[in-house]
Amino acid sequence: MINIDRLLLRHALTQRYALGFAERFVESWAGSDKAIIAAWREFQDSARKSDFDALLMRDVKNKRVNALIKAIGAVFDEASIGTMKLVNSELSDFIASDWDARAAAIGSTEKAPTASAILAMPILGRSPELQVREFSDNWKKRIISEIVAAQSNGRDVVQALRGTAEQNYRDGIFHTRDNAADADAVNLVNGVSNNSGRVLYKEEGHKREVYFATLDHRTCLRCAPLDNKIFPTGEGAQPPLHPRCRCVRVPYSFGALDAERPFVDDKRPVKNIPKSERAEKIGQTRYSYSEWFERLSDKSKLSILGQSRYDLWKKGDIDLGEFSAKNGGKILNLKDLDDLYGGLD
Ligand SMILES: [Zn+2]
Repeated sequence: MINIDRLLLRHALTQRYALGFAERFVESWAGSDKAIIAAWREFQDSARKSDFDALLMRDVKNKRVNALIKAIGAVFDEASIGTMKLVNSELSDFIASDWDARAAAIGSTEKAPTASAILAMPILGRSPELQVREFSDNWKKRIISEIVAAQSNGRDVVQALRGTAEQNYRDGIFHTRDNAADADAVNLVNGVSNNSGRVLYKEEGHKREVYFATLDHRTCLRCAPLDNKIFPTGEGAQPPLHPRCRCVRVPYSFGALDAERPFVDDKRPVKNIPKSERAEKIGQTRYSYSEWFERLSDKSKLSILGQSRYDLWKKGDIDLGEFSAKNGGKILNLKDLDDLYGGLD
């Protein structure tokens, strides 16, 4: 007996867990910021004009430039070891409890595979370990580039890294990296959760699965039309489809499409919606995303589609599923849409 409500509740808990995990994941990189700044200061304090010139050329034959680049590289190498430990230990625990909760919800006694087997499965094409390594290599390079760029433009390097108090440090490259880490972390959690679900449902012999997207204004036009679609197990769109994708697939059973789910008729996460507005924006529904969308106010539809797509929809030429390629394919850009349906300026 498959309990869809329990599976969807479990998925909601997974997303809440992802937020906490993301904080620790971000901190695991940000914990090295002081060491990066220290490496810069050491260079700055000892460098002569010729060393600054060599820095702009990234001339690693220059002793001080070489030492700076090496120091930053070492900081990232160490941070990536720490991050990988975090991923392995935390996500192993998560995988075990996630498996048990979902097995119970579908009446399975199937034993969990090892966490390392789940952690080896790709998420958006790359394993978690590879993602951490790529993140490290990528940001190592970007931070060095930012230092060189700031220095060559005569900006303060520490400020370029850390940002300014006036902008609440959002203008620093560390902040940009934190955002990227946050997106990766959320995707890791959703990815391992979906991957372990795939293994469980396949081992249980389920023939079909239902795709569920999230009913709010932030769900993208790739995922929204997939909501409530039924796929043969192992075929069709497998979430996460993109960074920060919040979708899930669960085994199909009779009544699955009648499952009652929460909706948020707003672009903001619930925590950012004033309490006084929540009653009218938040509720429960049995509709699919497309059905729910049809019943929203024009203002809400505009918020979801944006002006150009809304105009197109309003003319009646196109339905929600036609803003993206079939079966979770890419979102059509305005030029594609204009070529297909015309009338866009
Ligand atoms: Zn999605």
